Amino acid sequence: MTEKSFSSNNEELPDTNTAKAGAADADFIGIAESYKRIVENIEKAMLRAGRTDKVRLMAVTKTVPYEKVNFAASLGVNLLGENRVQEFLGKYDFYDKNCEIHFIGGLQSNKVKYITDKVSMIHSVDNIKLATEIDKRALAVGKVIDILIEVNIGREESKGGVLREELDELVSFCFSLSGARLRGFMAIPPPALNGGNEKYFELMERIYCDYRLKYGGIDTLSMGMSRDYEQAVLYGSNIVRVGSALFGKRKYKEA
Ligand SMILES: *Cc1c(COP(=O)(O)O)cnc(C)c1O
Repeated sequence: MTEKSFSSNNEELPDTNTAKAGAADADFIGIAESYKRIVENIEKAMLRAGRTDKVRLMAVTKTVPYEKVNFAASLGVNLLGENRVQEFLGKYDFYDKNCEIHFIGGLQSNKVKYITDKVSMIHSVDNIKLATEIDKRALAVGKVIDILIEVNIGREESKGGVLREELDELVSFCFSLSGARLRGFMAIPPPALNGGNEKYFELMERIYCDYRLKYGGIDTLSMGMSRDYEQAVLYGSNIVRVGSALFGKRKYKEA
């Protein structure tokens, strides 16, 4: 009797666990829908550009719990982009092991040793010291790490990357290394303020094509984020790095 009334009472109370599970489900459904839309948008941009090569979709994981990252992996994402060494090391063990991982954030030379055995490519090389350290650490663990040189294409003070006029020297230097293998370039073109930031995408495409003609082994242009990945595909990018359009708006500020 007591038991019965207790249980019938219980049914009328909101079940907080179910409510939480419901919110989490909605999050996951949102990721699945976003993933589908992004893949379609990339395909459309490829068609528009008349491209028949491949564009890889990278899931940028900063601030995203590993459960969601692994859910994206279950949908077909097989490339993760990491920004922060500390956060990455905390999540690494839990990641789906089928994913390839690239480091895309600003990187201090003294942190390279923590990630060399975990990533296959570093997109943010913008100085000789960093390239040298990556080379040394890669050789020490007996592997080759692919690198991209980040180009500060908008000449923005606040951003990493080399200026165009410094690029030749760093490219030559990187080609002298054996543990670090230069594969191409990464850029974060400035957002369009009054429309018309195409010139930055165009410039990056030109830089990429020029070096690709000049040197063997250059085959990667990493360009395009949530706001502009379709545009990047029109300008030859073959890795687009997407975070918030896939996982939703980040809730806390980035370091
Ligand atoms: C955060 C970040 C991205 C993804 O940004 P979204 O706007 O969330 O897609 C891409 N590249 C780099 C280097 C980033 O730091």
